Amino acid sequence: METKSPPIKIFELTFSELTSELKNRYDKGAYYAAAIFREIYVNGNTHISKAPAFLRSETFCRQLCQDLEINLNPITEIIEEEGLTKFVTELKDGFKIESVIVPMATHYTLCISTQVGCKMGCRFCETARHGFLRNLSVEEIVGQLYMAKFRLGVRVRNVVFMGMGEPLDNYDNVVQAVRVMEDQRGMDIPKRYVSISTSGRVDGIRKLAALNWPQLNLAVSLNAPNDRIRSKIMPINNIYPMGKLHEALLDFPIKNNGAIYIEYVLIKHLNDRREHARQLADYLKPLKVKVNLIPYNPLADLPFEAPDEKDVSQFLDWLVEEKIFVRKRSSKGHNILAGCGMLGKTPHRTTNLNDLTIFDG
Ligand code: SF4
Repeated sequence: METKSPPIKIFELTFSELTSELKNRYDKGAYYAAAIFREIYVNGNTHISKAPAFLRSETFCRQLCQDLEINLNPITEIIEEEGLTKFVTELKDGFKIESVIVPMATHYTLCISTQVGCKMGCRFCETARHGFLRNLSVEEIVGQLYMAKFRLGVRVRNVVFMGMGEPLDNYDNVVQAVRVMEDQRGMDIPKRYVSISTSGRVDGIRKLAALNWPQLNLAVSLNAPNDRIRSKIMPINNIYPMGKLHEALLDFPIKNNGAIYIEYVLIKHLNDRREHARQLADYLKPLKVKVNLIPYNPLADLPFEAPDEKDVSQFLDWLVEEKIFVRKRSSKGHNILAGCGMLGKTPHRTTNLNDLTIFDG
């Protein structure tokens, strides 16, 4: 019995993968791959039969349209807040994810999610409260960019993997999404405009380093000056303590004049003292880093307090004295771009508690 070929999931394929697929299935080449990319990613039209390249290839086009699978999930909510546009996407299984469009001085940045929930369990995080439900597929990740561009009409230049979830916990799909998005014939988001944020998955950082993509930006949510405090607020530190993280960051490839971004959420009475600034500086000095200092934004029911304005300035000054490059992130937009954990208020589909996974060191 003849077995049916699996569908061609267009949002999961790079240009060269699509070209090979067309060659293997229909003995067609890059000309048609370019036509598909142009129609979908440049013109925003998912009905490729209307593309000029296919008008004279009716039989091939009919076959291709049967085989292509284009899954786009609907935006169910758009929330405008303090200059940001947050949009909620409902996935096929009813789960909801959030993405945020952040206007910058000259362009727009899109903050996208990589998982439904997160298993890292950071104590200060909104997303962590939901536990982990599942990874997003490549097309669900790329689909957030597609919807921002073509349903909301936003000219996105930068993409940051800082929404719901730990990107390096969904390593394969995130890396493939970066590959799909970068092609100039398609979405055209080069790696220098992409940032991946991690809570410190050393295994993922090392795998990413092995790809040798120095253009790609790496951000690390550090949030503590020593293991004792970090383990208190970030359970991942029990698996990958700061020493191991440090070794991985030293080995990470960085472009000329580039840096690893270190996110430090300042929490009152927890990580905001003079000695903490000194320990943090000692830890960071051997690395090429830029620090984003983020005053903690209190969440209901959590035992952490926001720092006073003067304490934030004082901590910043201490780091400057230690010759650490640091800037304060204070607006909501900047906070969103300063590390994961700021999204996730959207209620997910009603969940069986047995489905939840919490990573707890
Ligand atoms: S801060 Fe990031 S890594 Fe930590 S639980 Fe939240 S989403 Fe996950």
